[in-house]
Amino acid sequence: MFRLEGRVALVTGGSRGIGRAISTMLAKAGAEVLVNYAKGEAAARETCDAIIAAGGKAEPVGFDVGVTKAVEDAVAKIAKDKGRLDIVISNAGISIDGLLLRLKEEDLDKVLAVNLKGAIMLAKAAMRPMMRAKFGRIVFVSSVVGEMGNPGQTAYAATKAALLGVTKTLAKEYASRAITVNAITPGFIETDMTASLPEEAKKFMIEATPLGRYGTPADVAAAAMYLSSEEAGFVTGQVLRVNGGLYV
Ligand code: NAD
Repeated sequence: MFRLEGRVALVTGGSRGIGRAISTMLAKAGAEVLVNYAKGEAAARETCDAIIAAGGKAEPVGFDVGVTKAVEDAVAKIAKDKGRLDIVISNAGISIDGLLLRLKEEDLDKVLAVNLKGAIMLAKAAMRPMMRAKFGRIVFVSSVVGEMGNPGQTAYAATKAALLGVTKTLAKEYASRAITVNAITPGFIETDMTASLPEEAKKFMIEATPLGRYGTPADVAAAAMYLSSEEAGFVTGQVLRVNGGLYV
């Protein structure tokens, strides 16, 4: 079991789905977790209450990942209040799907703003406290769709593929500061994001997954926990696929 006592972690979009599972697992390992939300304050509080009830430390932190000033202010406040920011799990993400010929420019901008620009500006803001501490763990939650492509997901796939380039670049840029930067590419995970998919699409995804099941948020959280740990200190610039063998 990896131990994270004394570490302060920020999980964006931490109130539900994969982010909630990551927040819960990091807290169980001893980290103090800041559970970010944009709109779901009640869900974020609920997640924190559950963590606290289980003996962990957690606090909700509201900001929109797509608004740079809000990201910068939130990270600066965390670094000031907590004196450190050791782990950032860049998990918040949206998808606005549709075939390219129906893709609206404003929807492309929205997806890029949260999934890509927001993730990059968050990493930038977090580098300052991490460099001071000479320790850091940044984990981007990308997607198998960024590796394989998926019809109807041009904007989403673009952002998730781009995050892999960001991961490899930042890994090289900040390795000398003992800050590791890695990505996770989940396959088909059972959350709100995938709940609305047509039954046919769900059946197809399971059939295409050699392990023959949906992934769970906990499957992804375990990977995030490893990459956040002291023990993963020699792992950087990597893409950890949590996809049941869907893409190898
Ligand atoms: P979800 O929709 O349940 O969770 C996404 C979270 O991000 C929500 O809490 C949402 O409120 C938050 N969020 C959205 N926009 C935000 C913003 N501007 N600022 C702050 N928070 C914001 O979906 P999920 O399945 O838990 O997805 C989590 C991550 O995993 C996403 O990045 C998603 O792309 C990725 N992913 C999911 C799957 C899957 O099958 N579910 C597969 C691959 C990758």
